[in-house]
Amino acid sequence: MNFSSQGAESVTYDAIVIGSGISGGYAAMELCKKGYKVLMLERGRMVKHNDYPTANLDTWELDYQNTVPREEIAAHYYKQNRLHWWVKQDNKHWIVKDDEYDYEEKQRFDWIRGTTWGGAPSCGGDTATAGATSTSRVI
Ligand SMILES: Cc1cc2nc3c(=O)[nH]c(=O)nc-3n(C[C@H](O)[C@H](O)[C@H](O)COP(=O)(O)OP(=O)(O)OC[C@H]3O[C@@H](n4cnc5c(N)ncnc54)[C@H](O)[C@@H]3O)c2cc1C
Repeated sequence: MNFSSQGAESVTYDAIVIGSGISGGYAAMELCKKGYKVLMLERGRMVKHNDYPTANLDTWELDYQNTVPREEIAAHYYKQNRLHWWVKQDNKHWIVKDDEYDYEEKQRFDWIRGTTWGGAPSCGGDTATAGATSTSRVI
């Protein structure tokens, strides 16, 4: 059996940032710049440059002329689609499914939610991530 005397130290952080969007990314960057050891946790997947499956498709190349069928909206995007411009064929792969990560509301609260490395800005097709510095770690 192997015990590492470095174990506790390697998993000890000064700060843990949850989410790599604008808020989390910027907070992590500032903490890293000050020399803190930062762990960033991100739920969504990493999007690498050129990893944009629909970026070069025209409307007529997308299912349903880039719209999402009513049944699919009702099952997965019933809150996300309240703002009707948001859920399309060409970006739904970046959007949180309401049935998987629902949220409670006492009154109507529209909350557009992306789920990728870099947060919501990544869902519009361009990535703007501030948090990746040498002392932050994404798992
Ligand atoms: C298409 C589009 C265009 C926009 N254009 C502009 C613009 O031009 N100018 C402007 O100022 N604003 C714009 N916005 C708004 C701006 O993107 C948001 O206000 C901003 O991204 C919010 O930042 P945030 O860090 O709070 O959240 P987000 O950017 O949404 O980041 C949250 C991150 O946390 C992650 N996360 C959530 N839950 C967990 C969990 N449990 N564990 C781990 N990770 C988790 C998510 O995956 C996500 O990466 C736009 C938004 C969209 C969707």
